[in-house]
Amino acid sequence: MAAYRDWRPLIDGIYTISSYLMWPVNLLYNDLLINVFPPSDWFPGIYMANLLALLRGMLAAVPQAQAILASDSIQQAMVGYLDFLPLLAMGFYLLLGPLLDVCIDLFKTLFWNLFIEMSFTKRKESRYQEALEKRAADLVKLNVEFKNLSKENSALAQSVITDELTKVYNKRFFIEKITYEFNQAKSKKQLLAIAMVDIDHFKKLNDNYGHLMGDKVLKSVAQVAKGSTPKDCFCCRFGGEEFSIIMPKKTLEEATAIIAKIHQSLPLLRFEEDPQLRTSASFGICVVDFKSPEGQALTSYEDILKLADDELYKAKLNGRNRIESNSLGG
Ligand code: GH3
Ligand code: MG
Ligand code: MG
Repeated sequence: MAAYRDWRPLIDGIYTISSYLMWPVNLLYNDLLINVFPPSDWFPGIYMANLLALLRGMLAAVPQAQAILASDSIQQAMVGYLDFLPLLAMGFYLLLGPLLDVCIDLFKTLFWNLFIEMSFTKRKESRYQEALEKRAADLVKLNVEFKNLSKENSALAQSVITDELTKVYNKRFFIEKITYEFNQAKSKKQLLAIAMVDIDHFKKLNDNYGHLMGDKVLKSVAQVAKGSTPKDCFCCRFGGEEFSIIMPKKTLEEATAIIAKIHQSLPLLRFEEDPQLRTSASFGICVVDFKSPEGQALTSYEDILKLADDELYKAKLNGRNRIESNSLGG
């Protein structure tokens, strides 16, 4: 059982609180009412003797009442004066009660709303956080997808302009490029060189070794041509066993040097299927200087192609495995 000293602080606390609660009542009663109206004159502090005298006066006409008021028991019971203070305190707090209730209600509502708002905000915060994290994860995924797509896209774009068998530029790219370079060279009055390459006796090779072997030789020739083509020039498969090399801004000497490298490399190719097999090609080069009136007279890339093709034909006529060239306006 808790000892009295354990309760002492609680009781002290109650006394302290009640003394604070009594403070406004004391102020009203002691400092105001008692000082201004002494108890003997005023009802709250009225003496019992005065009250009895008053009652006797009021009830003078009632003999029974007089008898009761005069009895000993009444006289003994009504000694001293009426201590009105507790009554006044109760009245005060009865009046104050509704006001306190309103204040407590207001405080409760305020506190409750604050609590609700805080917990709601917390929940909202965590939901926003989750949504943000999901968005971030989605963005990372999208970024990966985007990178994959752009890789696929550039691979696709590359495949659109690449010849499937030989892996050099295809005819579609060749047409686009030569059209562009022809217009550029003509409008800017620059040089443009084109070389036509045709593998010698390729039909015979196909007949002797079969089409698959023919494909293999074709691929090897293409790789040699591509490998010897500078970065600012374009090696394309023109069709069949023919290639075309576009060489923008190259002089006849420069174009011939590029083609000579390919020409010299082809006979060095070796094939495991037949180590004796040798391959060669014929080359026709045409360089046009668009500064010249002859160059400006050309109206389409087909004109320059025709000139290069004429040279290739000459190379074939002159015994194959050789380079023939022509310079227009040089
Ligand atoms: P020339 O020295 O006069 O050029 O003789 P050629 O036999 O090379 O000339 P021609 O144009 O008569 O023959 C080209 C041959 O190339 C005909 C064709 O079967 C072959 N050919 C064209 N495209 C391909 C290909 O993709 N693969 C293979 N294996 N052969 C091809
Ligand atoms: Mg041919
Ligand atoms: Mg040929």
